[in-house]
Amino acid sequence: MSIPAHLQIAIDGPAASGKTTVAHRLASQLRILYLDTGAMYRALAYLALQTRNEADNEGALLRLLEQHEIRVSSDATAPLGFRIFAGDRELDEAVLQSNEVTAVVSTIAAHPKVREAMVHAQRRIAQEGPVVMAGRDIGTVVLPLAQVKIFLTASVGARVERRRVQLEAAGVDVNEHRLAEEIEERDRLDRSRAVSPLVPAPDAHIVDSSSIGVERVLEEIAAIVERSR
Ligand code: C5P
Repeated sequence: MSIPAHLQIAIDGPAASGKTTVAHRLASQLRILYLDTGAMYRALAYLALQTRNEADNEGALLRLLEQHEIRVSSDATAPLGFRIFAGDRELDEAVLQSNEVTAVVSTIAAHPKVREAMVHAQRRIAQEGPVVMAGRDIGTVVLPLAQVKIFLTASVGARVERRRVQLEAAGVDVNEHRLAEEIEERDRLDRSRAVSPLVPAPDAHIVDSSSIGVERVLEEIAAIVERSR
């Protein structure tokens, strides 16, 4: 498939809906840039925890962003599909997905000025070339002109199971009951925040992955990408 120079594919959805796996695989298939924007909010959560700053202190979080730049560079060979740095430390999946980071990330992501800074950086990355970007507000706010918008959903049960497998593979301790609570609480915070809440873009294709595997999801999305051209 020949790829238009400005192709933008937005993949949004609730926690653990499989966005990052699908977005990463799709970007590899198409050989275009991939960015999981959740990693950027998680990097800031990591910085806040390291420096003992409170998740609800927007001013302190903005100062942290100034002092320790969160930098992303594309690298299809990296385990995440890109590389991410907080200051001079490179962050891996075990750090980004740690229970401590997950517990505070949605509070951090609700601050309007934090979002402004992140959206600015994400749009700059999208200027580097065709891109698949995963998150919560990609189709609605970050790339509103994306040619393809997918809203990936799945039942809570399916999402808990997927997250359990992902976390165990990354070496993170898992308690299934707490995992369900954490996913539902994060969805609640992400859907109810005042700025850029989690909501499908009006022109998004809704894909429910509760009972289909990643290969079928990829086939459906590839067909949507093909039809968009
Ligand atoms: O996608 P992931 O679960 O890693 O995202 C972590 C958190 O970051 C989300 O629960 C949400 O609060 C926030 N986020 C966001 N906007 C994005 C991506 C992530 O608010 N585009």
